[in-house]
Amino acid sequence: MINQQIHLVSRPEGEASADNFKLVDVPVPELEDGQVLVRHHYLSLDPYMRGRMNDSKSYAQPQPLDQVMIGGTVGIVEKSRSDAFGVGDKVVGMGGWQQYAVVDANQPGLLRKVDTKHIPLSAYLGPVGMPGVTGWYGLTKICKPEAGQTIAVSAASGAVGSVVGQLAKARGCRAIGIAGGPEKCAYVVDELGFDACVDYKAHPDPKSLNAALREAAPDGVDGYFENVGGRILDAMMLRMNAFGRMAFCGMISGYDGAPMPMAYPALILQSRLTVRGFIVSEHMADWPDALKELGAGVASGKIKYRESIADGLASAPEAFLGLLKGKNFGKQLVKLV
Ligand code: NDP
Repeated sequence: MINQQIHLVSRPEGEASADNFKLVDVPVPELEDGQVLVRHHYLSLDPYMRGRMNDSKSYAQPQPLDQVMIGGTVGIVEKSRSDAFGVGDKVVGMGGWQQYAVVDANQPGLLRKVDTKHIPLSAYLGPVGMPGVTGWYGLTKICKPEAGQTIAVSAASGAVGSVVGQLAKARGCRAIGIAGGPEKCAYVVDELGFDACVDYKAHPDPKSLNAALREAAPDGVDGYFENVGGRILDAMMLRMNAFGRMAFCGMISGYDGAPMPMAYPALILQSRLTVRGFIVSEHMADWPDALKELGAGVASGKIKYRESIADGLASAPEAFLGLLKGKNFGKQLVKLV
């Protein structure tokens, strides 16, 4: 049996490109005792993967060259030599950019069984998975929303941002999104229920972006969930209320490595802001609480989400490069089965 994989074969200088990846065929090995064979149904494409393509020091280990790209996956157990998993079990793991993964089921945390009665399998890579928990953690633990306050989030139509605004609304806040383009903004307000959304692409100069944010958040912003950085962060700094909280989750506009100067650092002092970065995988103790709320929200239809689905493993590199340019609309997945 053949397993198709995508390897990282070179490291980008500046922008990543399709040449950095290669499609490779390898045989699926026979299982040893304690192992299971998982057939991947979806793989998750996430912005953090861009950081791992570099060889530089970061919170994440670099992706080794000539090996399968690491990444989140959901799939179904196809063969098992483990008592812990049976054929047909639906599982979430870190199987990487490949059709099949052989997983040592005895190693804790590598595979988790999931129930798809009320939650679709793919949602475990989105709102009921790592991106959802990221939104939940940054909002509840750092932005600390209180009813009546205003919470803002950038990349608002995306996997993380869409969750942040909906959870903020559920806590009685005014939710403001920032997103690229009128279609994404209409979705954020009409479907996700945010109070307002600013299309930053329609406001290329700081003056008009500031004016649009002032209109969207007339009482200022108490909690800001940052996914993007750059000029959007600068504009948000100006809207922060005294004692506001900023969760630094992502800086996607700078992932190609260009310097990202901050225009108004003095406002951290003047507005007495709390600014805290976080990495969701360092807060495993909070995942059960987060997944409880997120799972219930998705199962009941209260938490809405959207997916961009690329078809087939070979489409993963282009879909990933598109994600870094905002071509995705919602959680970017690759469908393998
Ligand atoms: P999204 O689904 O939001 O997709 C990325 C979005 O980023 C794009 O759709 C685009 O939205 C926006 N974007 C891309 N390039 C730019 C740019 N140059 N300027 C402005 N916006 C841009 O991805 P996720 O929800 O998975 O991730 C959102 C953020 O959260 C990322 O920064 C990611 O790195 C971070 N993250 C951090 C984690 C942590 O533990 N700290 C864990 C998971 C994610 P638009 O078209 O609206 O601009």
